Amino acid sequence: MRQAGGVRIDLHTHSAVSDGTDSPGALMAAAVDAGLDVVALTDHDTTAGWALAETARPAGLTVVPGMELSCRWFPTGDRAGEPPVSVHLLAYLFDPDHPAFAAERVRLRGERLGRGERITENLAAAGYPVSWARIVERSEGGVVGRPHIARALVDAGVVDSVDQAFTTLLHHTSPYYVTKADTDVHDGIALVRAAGGVPVFAHGMATKRGRVVGDDAIRTMTDAGMLGLEVDHPDHSPGERAHLSALATGLDLLTTGSSDYHGTNKRTPIGACTTDPEQYERLLSLGTGHALFADPGPVAAGPVVPAG
Ligand code: AMP
Ligand code: FE
Ligand code: FE
Ligand code: ZN
Repeated sequence: MRQAGGVRIDLHTHSAVSDGTDSPGALMAAAVDAGLDVVALTDHDTTAGWALAETARPAGLTVVPGMELSCRWFPTGDRAGEPPVSVHLLAYLFDPDHPAFAAERVRLRGERLGRGERITENLAAAGYPVSWARIVERSEGGVVGRPHIARALVDAGVVDSVDQAFTTLLHHTSPYYVTKADTDVHDGIALVRAAGGVPVFAHGMATKRGRVVGDDAIRTMTDAGMLGLEVDHPDHSPGERAHLSALATGLDLLTTGSSDYHGTNKRTPIGACTTDPEQYERLLSLGTGHALFADPGPVAAGPVVPAG
């Protein structure tokens, strides 16, 4: 429900256009039900949901067009020689038609398809009853990720839940797992900036997901043009949030909070974590590649000034 005096802002959600389960329209209805004033749509590696969101946006709700870009950090220094670390970069208010950035998204989606097919074939060869053709059909054109394969494993009765699929057969240490050639994070940051967008490091200390980069890498990414850190995220412990918050202050980065909502593919409700309105205003002032989807007139809620 709406908090007295507070604008409620969730800057990280996924629809069925990638690996969530709500259509963009249903996602916005869920945002309104949760008492949100502002929601960002940040599907993986695609902007295909933006037009749907613009059309379906309920009056009174502001939608920030965004995306979550799949990237890799290549270890350097003391960690040189380690395999690359998966890092996710949230991008807001960028120009979706910027040619180099658009081309990189096409490449990433191709990587996803080839890799999803190989994971599925590995599972099928080991006797698990999953079919790539069926997974693609069920994705209804969404950007296929491991959650789609996880659902197929649940439907086939192989595992009890999407969560269980992720901790077993689809884990990055599983023999069936296949990696993908995600964008070098420094190139990703440069592309988002070139397209007028605001790059924010997503769930950067979520150790429960796997290996994470360290503070040095966050400094280097900041030198490369990164503008913010996602601090309040369901996968961050209180200690991890405090650490990231202090780092952001030291590096003069903006901070965000968000749910990383995926519909029924994850248990986190939309609006579970939210962004400070001042930080949101800072983000708006930095994004120049695309406008918000919003009611006409001033965005900030404040006292109505009489005309004249
Ligand atoms: P992929 O991008 O195909 O490697 O799949 C990773 C995606 O799966 C992440 O972006 C998350 O959205 C999602 N994910 C990770 N862990 C889980 C989990 N335990 N349950 C559901 N979805 C998850
Ligand atoms: Fe996801
Ligand atoms: Fe992510
Ligand atoms: Zn996400």
